Amino acid sequence: MIEQRRADGSLRHLITLETLRRDEIESLLLRSQHFARAIGERPPTGRSLQGVTIANLFTEPSTRTRVSFELAGRRLGAEVVNLEVQLSSRVKGESMLDTIFTLQALHFDVFVIRDAEPGVLAHVSSHVAAGVSVLSAGEAHLSHPTQGLLDALTIRQHKGSIEPLSIAIVGDIRHSRVARSAYQVLRILQAHEIRIVAPPALMPEAHEFVGCPRFETLERGLEGVDVIMMLRIQKERFAETAIPDGEEYFLRYGLTPARLARARPDAIVMHPQPMNRGIEIASDIADGPQSVIRSQVSNGVAVRMAVLETVASRLSS
Ligand code: ASP
Repeated sequence: MIEQRRADGSLRHLITLETLRRDEIESLLLRSQHFARAIGERPPTGRSLQGVTIANLFTEPSTRTRVSFELAGRRLGAEVVNLEVQLSSRVKGESMLDTIFTLQALHFDVFVIRDAEPGVLAHVSSHVAAGVSVLSAGEAHLSHPTQGLLDALTIRQHKGSIEPLSIAIVGDIRHSRVARSAYQVLRILQAHEIRIVAPPALMPEAHEFVGCPRFETLERGLEGVDVIMMLRIQKERFAETAIPDGEEYFLRYGLTPARLARARPDAIVMHPQPMNRGIEIASDIADGPQSVIRSQVSNGVAVRMAVLETVASRLSS
């Protein structure tokens, strides 16, 4: 099991949400709400990370996550450095560690890492110096904890308590770290029902998503739900022959106005982005009144401010 806490019980790393307690999630969400602002309002700033140095190490592409971690750190007064890392794939864990040890010698305090290989984050977190924190910005298909938190925050802002809600996670669940982190946080927050809705080839293994009813058609899976979380088809993670191509996929599994009408009239629609418009979601839904996709993006900065502050404000000078 990944050890994410210090000896005094405080949160030091954030690699998975799976082992967090409800009170830890609640306090991260409360702090995130403190930093959250509606689109168009001036974002808050502070000095709680003054003197802290953060490295963003991304070995997979990212726009929103990298930029929002960067803004989050800067808005709290930290120094943030973005590093392009080219690692030898044969010994990735080791070569990531070499990079980390070099940066530790330059007195970096926090490493924000995105990597396509399962296990690299846990490996790094078990080798860094005592004062250093490691945060996941997305690990393979396994985990994307800050996305899970920003999704929970967005749902709360629009729907209030998560407990009475029926939430459908829809699409390429098999390859999605967003779906896994959403499942973990929503389960800890005791959502009434988490449905998983996917074509057979994109369903997760039977031992995953324990307790979630499974649906192979959107028509049935979306019936009466309060929240629809759409996912991108992660083409980079499998051979495309396993599922129908774009137009065909949209006809069978895309979120269209007729399918959305199966959900509750006040249901919200989410998507972590990047979106394949016209493949998993119709453009007029993505931009329509039930979409909260842009609030997810702005909440990303608020959540990352809360996480950075929680793990690193004690280092501030
Ligand atoms: N941006 C999200 C991720 O990094 C979702 C996606 O790429 O589809 O997992």
